[in-house]
Amino acid sequence: MEKIFLEGLKENDINKLLAAPKSDLHNHSTKGCRREWLSEQLHVDIPKPPQRLDGLEGMQAWFRSSIKPFCDGYENMLLRWEGAFAEAGRNNITRLVMNFGTAEVNQVGTVMGFQELIEGFHKAYCPNSIFEAELTYPSFGNVEQEADEFDKYASSGYFKAIDICAGENVQPFEAFCHFTRRLRNII
Ligand SMILES: [Zn+2]
Repeated sequence: MEKIFLEGLKENDINKLLAAPKSDLHNHSTKGCRREWLSEQLHVDIPKPPQRLDGLEGMQAWFRSSIKPFCDGYENMLLRWEGAFAEAGRNNITRLVMNFGTAEVNQVGTVMGFQELIEGFHKAYCPNSIFEAELTYPSFGNVEQEADEFDKYASSGYFKAIDICAGENVQPFEAFCHFTRRLRNII
C-alpha cells in the first residue's frame, strides 16, 4: 500500500496520490475545504488563487478577498467545516488533527453540541480516520482571562491540544503552559 504514493509521484497520477493513506496534522477547519467543493455547494464561481500566494499573509489576503465574501456567517462556517471533512475523506487522510477557535465553538452553543456536530461530519466523510480536535488561541490573548473559561473546554476531554496562532514571539510560550497542563491532566 505504501508503494502507491511513490507510484503516484513517478507517474504524476493524482488519483494514486489521493488514494495513498496520509496524515494531516495541522488543519485549520474553516480553511480546510476545497474551493471546487465550496463552489458546488454555494452555486457560485469562486475565483482561482493566484499562481503564487506570497506566504501566509498572501494566503490570508486571498481568503479574505475571494472566499469570505461568498460564505461568511454561521451557516457557512458549518459548511466549510463539513467541506474540511469531505476533503479529508477524498484525500484518504487517516489521521486528522483540526483546530477550532473558542469563539467558533461558542457559536455552536455548548461544547457537547459542538462535539456532536463535528463527530457527525467525521462519521459521514472519513469514519476510519483517527480524529483529534485542537483549540486555537491567538498568541496575543490574555491567558489569565481565558483560564477560567478554558476549563469548560478542557473538561469535555474532546480537545487534545492547543494551537497558538496569529504570530510568534508575542509573549513567551510558557504563558500557555497552564492550558497544556490542564489538558494533560484530563487526557
Ligand atoms: Zn496554523
